[in-house]
Amino acid sequence: MDPQRFQDEWALETLAIRAGHHRTGEQEHSEPIFPTSSFVYASAAEAARKFSGDEPGNVYSRFTNPTVQTFERRLAAMEGGERCVATSSGMAAILSTALALLQAGDEIVASRSLFGSTVSLFDKYLGKLGITTRYVELSDLAAWEAAITPATKLLFAETPSNPLSEVVDIAELAEIAHRHGAWLAIDNCFLTPALQQPIALGADLVIHSATKYLDGQGRAVGGAVVGPDKLLEEVFGVVRTCGPCLSPFNAWIFTKGLETLGLRMRAHCANAQALAEWLQVHPAVMRVHYSGLPDHPQHALAARQQGGCGAVLGFEVTGAREGAWRVIDATRMLSITGNLGDVKTTITHPATTTHGRLSDAQKAAAGIGEGLIRVAVGLESLEDIRADLGRGLDALI
Ligand SMILES: *Cc1c(COP(=O)(O)O)cnc(C)c1O
Repeated sequence: MDPQRFQDEWALETLAIRAGHHRTGEQEHSEPIFPTSSFVYASAAEAARKFSGDEPGNVYSRFTNPTVQTFERRLAAMEGGERCVATSSGMAAILSTALALLQAGDEIVASRSLFGSTVSLFDKYLGKLGITTRYVELSDLAAWEAAITPATKLLFAETPSNPLSEVVDIAELAEIAHRHGAWLAIDNCFLTPALQQPIALGADLVIHSATKYLDGQGRAVGGAVVGPDKLLEEVFGVVRTCGPCLSPFNAWIFTKGLETLGLRMRAHCANAQALAEWLQVHPAVMRVHYSGLPDHPQHALAARQQGGCGAVLGFEVTGAREGAWRVIDATRMLSITGNLGDVKTTITHPATTTHGRLSDAQKAAAGIGEGLIRVAVGLESLEDIRADLGRGLDALI
């Protein structure tokens, strides 16, 4: 029986568990790992056919590997895209997409509040290749349109943003991109296909750092690009030739991570929502940034576009940097780290870590104040998370 035969009818929860698994002759129940660099052939003629591409099949694991393909097929199905190409990291996914689709003279328009390394990749390394990037306010559709020129080929956004949880209307942004002959890529790291499916809203490409929620337990670094066959064939060409391929072992971890993604994301959202509501009424907290709160500027849009608001939230405490550092240093359980997308709750001070390289003016434009703390809410008991944060917050009153 082909386990894929019902795939078109399956709901997301089922795709997460069943899509992409082709059993070997051993009839194993769980997805196998193929830790092999290359593959062998029955004859010289078969080798020639496989190398030329006349016959489908694996040649070398920089090109294709069955474990990696299982992850790719499962994620493509969950994102509703025709094809997925897995990469060695989220940054490799963004670089491979850029190398595949852009050339010297082309322009990118991107949201200002991007992941730090994405900004460095665009400015420093794509800049060297003659590709320029303009940054706009994520939620300001008029600013996106105004920044587009005839040379613009790609619009790139992370929504919701980190750490202020701003949201852009993906369908409107896709319409603007297409009206100007550009592609729209959405970095879907913070919500994952369990909570947001940008392709269904009109985006051309979805980018993932699988390192985050797709794994969900902080075990491996990896990434992926999902989109139409035509564009993904180009991305595949870059990965195959330039080499940022995903290892079979990491692909297996991510495949197993996808199986519990929906459950984990719902639990992450529930903990984050409850924590945001608790923080909002704490006397040492001046402001909470979370799109699940009714006073968030894009709350209605988030409620319409997203199946949940994710688990990354920012909050501003009294006492500026000193206050923020005191809250962070008073924790005993939370992990002080810039990472996110883990069952373990993490806490960081963006102004001196993840956004530390920005100038004061850039920090001000991005809304990164000295009193801002970012928490990526994990799956520990809410009471324990609150107690750990409450110790430092109570000391600020
Ligand atoms: C972590 C992250 C990346 C980069 O992914 P790596 O796997 O660390 O290379 C890109 N975008 C977002 C939103 C991220 O959080």
